[in-house]
Amino acid sequence: MAFALTGVISLNIRSKMPSNRIAGDTGEKEIVGLVPCPNCGKKLMKLPSNYPLYDVQCTGCSFRAQVKTNNTKPKDVILGAGGEIIEKVLKSGFMVPPLIVNFKWREDGKRKRKIFLYPFIPKINLKKYQLSASARRAKYKMFNYIGLSKLPYFPLYQREF
Ligand SMILES: [Zn+2]
Repeated sequence: MAFALTGVISLNIRSKMPSNRIAGDTGEKEIVGLVPCPNCGKKLMKLPSNYPLYDVQCTGCSFRAQVKTNNTKPKDVILGAGGEIIEKVLKSGFMVPPLIVNFKWREDGKRKRKIFLYPFIPKINLKKYQLSASARRAKYKMFNYIGLSKLPYFPLYQREF
């Protein structure tokens, strides 16, 4: 495939949003620390933050995934990221990467966490939008994951304390 991903905005737009970058890195470290590879059971590792599309990969097999951290209970719509790269990727015929979501929230005085793997996300479950002209990053193209509650998922981890 001749499609070049280098030099374009990372799917997680980390370089542009320092606070998200920290949250993203923390979320990936948590995944690597808490969850073994859902395919082979070996340890996952973090990919470099400029690595396109994927955030973690398995040390023992070819499993790779995108990671999102949400400080909410599991929900239907979650924030994706900068849309230009994913748009190019999808137009080139690549598939949306498998998605691991790290849901963390407080409820009834307890801290709760659920980690889900969405192994397959059809294109129609990505919704593009554009930031307004008055936004700090005016007219920046973004996307959200939508309809997650109707997609098949694997629960990878659950804890409350
Ligand atoms: Zn594996």
